[in-house]
Amino acid sequence: MAGITLSKLNKSFGALTVVHDIDLEIADKEFIILVGPSGCGKSTTLRMIAGLEEVTGGELVIGDQLVNDVPSKDRDIAMVFQNYALYPHMTVYKNMAFGLQLRKAPQDEIDVKVKEAAKILDIEHLLNRKPKALSGGQRQRVALGRAMVRNPAVFLLDEPLSNLDAKLRGTMRAEITKLHKRLDATFIYVTHDQVEAMTMADRIVVMKDGRILQVDTPQNLYDTPVNMFVAGFIGAPQ
Ligand code: ADP
Ligand code: MG
Repeated sequence: MAGITLSKLNKSFGALTVVHDIDLEIADKEFIILVGPSGCGKSTTLRMIAGLEEVTGGELVIGDQLVNDVPSKDRDIAMVFQNYALYPHMTVYKNMAFGLQLRKAPQDEIDVKVKEAAKILDIEHLLNRKPKALSGGQRQRVALGRAMVRNPAVFLLDEPLSNLDAKLRGTMRAEITKLHKRLDATFIYVTHDQVEAMTMADRIVVMKDGRILQVDTPQNLYDTPVNMFVAGFIGAPQ
């Protein structure tokens, strides 16, 4: 169970405030998408939830735990990045198993989890390959698989499809939606692609200049945007 609550969450780098006291309640198992122009604070917000960026004000609660001071490795989360961040010298199998090995999970348990995730993601035939022998879409599946084997309550995805070509992005959008339904986890997904936001999200959070302008379902955002910025961002193709 992992709903997430951001209360007056703030992030400053020295004198520069990039996230301004934002409030947001995310329900357990919800698929939330953060959208907004480049530099508006999406990644910083996600990185605070991940514990990769220190919170400089407010409270961050995951499940029923205040996690402001909980290190990233002790949070029940997994993160998937745009650039995959796979280990180049390890096979796909090793890439997926590595996190569990660090946690000293038993080898037979690791083996079951890696193979199960590989099957769901249709990458079983790639387990012995190195990342450089994979296509972009395959690498992104491995990155998803690496997150899946940890069975986290929360998946954090930062523009996971932005390095893929348009056709593959369409396929992977559907795959990630399917994965969310199947996994019983909360997904927080950052993108600047409004098609992704409109087709994948339970609710969309529209950000601008480190503030939240509107939080609503895709349909409601489209029908009743709070201002011209939201209307333009949601309505106009970019
Ligand atoms: P987005 O993901 O929406 O494009 P970011 O969260 O990456 O935006 O960045 C928000 C703002 O914070 C930007 O102005 C960026 O330059 C600034 N920023 C991000 N990380 C740092 C950092 N480590 N030090 C200083 N400024 C940063
Ligand atoms: Mg970003």
